[in-house]
Amino acid sequence: AAHFQVLIIGGGAGGLSVAGSLLKRNSHLSIGVVEPSNEHFYQPGWTLVGGGVFQAAQTRRKEADVMPKDVVWVRQAAKLFRPDVREVVLGDGSVVSYDALIVATGITLNWDAIPGLTETLGKNGVTSNYRFDLAPYTWQLVQQLKSGTAIFTQPPMPIKCAGAPQKAVYLSCDAWKRRGVLDSISVEFDTATPGLFGVKEFVPPLMEYIKRYHVGLHTGSKLVAVDGPNRTAVFERKAGEGVERVERKFDMLHVVPPQSAPQVIRESALAGSDGFVEVNPATLQHVRFPDVFAIGDVIGTSSAKTAAAVRVQAPVVATNVLAFLKHQAPVSEYEGYGACPLTVENGRIVLAEFRYGGKLAPTLPKWLLNGQKPTRLAWWLKKYVMPLMYWDGMLKGRELMVAPKPLNAKKDG
Ligand code: FAD
Repeated sequence: AAHFQVLIIGGGAGGLSVAGSLLKRNSHLSIGVVEPSNEHFYQPGWTLVGGGVFQAAQTRRKEADVMPKDVVWVRQAAKLFRPDVREVVLGDGSVVSYDALIVATGITLNWDAIPGLTETLGKNGVTSNYRFDLAPYTWQLVQQLKSGTAIFTQPPMPIKCAGAPQKAVYLSCDAWKRRGVLDSISVEFDTATPGLFGVKEFVPPLMEYIKRYHVGLHTGSKLVAVDGPNRTAVFERKAGEGVERVERKFDMLHVVPPQSAPQVIRESALAGSDGFVEVNPATLQHVRFPDVFAIGDVIGTSSAKTAAAVRVQAPVVATNVLAFLKHQAPVSEYEGYGACPLTVENGRIVLAEFRYGGKLAPTLPKWLLNGQKPTRLAWWLKKYVMPLMYWDGMLKGRELMVAPKPLNAKKDG
């Protein structure tokens, strides 16, 4: 069986960022990356594809072109975790062993959980920015619609990039407003969450856009079925103590699917009660298996599941894994940073940055970028800087403005 000092499961944002961070610190490590896909996606770009700002092709690269040269790429999926014997069984039945394991499989999109959805995606006006192949259809529908009803949905938490469902609302409305057809379109946002956004400081600027675009906001409203040919969506909405079933006709429906920990994780000894990898929220080391770490959307912490979070987690996991390999205690701490660039109009963004406990965590000084206001600077960062930071920074282990915080800094000081 193959053996690696560090075995990484998943070659997405988290897996490749932490591989880069490890190699930057020790280029002689033996690292294996288990990743079945031949393609790697810059998912944060899909919102801009759906908004007609990016071409889909800009968000996709060959996995071979982003995989670091100094790792062994194992083109398989992990099928079974055996943390008690430090082994992972792969799809072809082969076994890989490790000194330290980093789980980076991301979160699973459960399209099939909504009856009628899968078969109508990509037609009948039903779309989603959560899939590479469908994001261009969103923009096509936005361009075609002149009147009627457009409905946008958000499932219960946890989801990746919790702001993305409403970003689609704003960018579509902005396009309709510019074309002068917004007044003829009835726009509705149905979110299963109790509020518009989880961190209260960012709700007022977002509510202004909900009003400006005349969006009908329904919180506590969950999509439960879709009938594509009849263009009908069914919701369960909170009504007083109970729940009512509401049927709505649509001309365009943008769906964000319910999400969960991947099955292979949920069914493993690595999972906590929510199915995600049960790590210490500060060190990202597993609470029961000290040789296991995790990064990205698969971690069972209260942080926002975003690539922005991965950028900050990568050096923390890398330094703690290296300490573990030297039989030392973890050295760095993750404070739960996550960010969500809310594209409220084409050209302006409300840049929500926060950490554990919903505490605000702005990267730039307020005089330069006030995250509670829509700013052109944040749009410019999203459109021009962040893709570069992703492909040429994060994935290559170049850590811009993210020196990992020493673990004991707080306790000593
Ligand atoms: P991923 O990047 O999804 O990678 C997981 C990898 O694991 C995949 O390559 C997959 O093939 C592989 N894998 C899965 N199962 C297995 C297995 N069993 N064995 C081996 N490999 C496996 N983030 C932001 O910061 N800002 C944004 O504006 C933003 N907008 C977004 C908009 C949309 C529409 C979407 C979908 C996401 C957005 N995100 C945003 C979130 C961001 O894309 C994710 O948080 C980030 O990609 C998480 O990285 P990850 O490595 O955990 O998962």
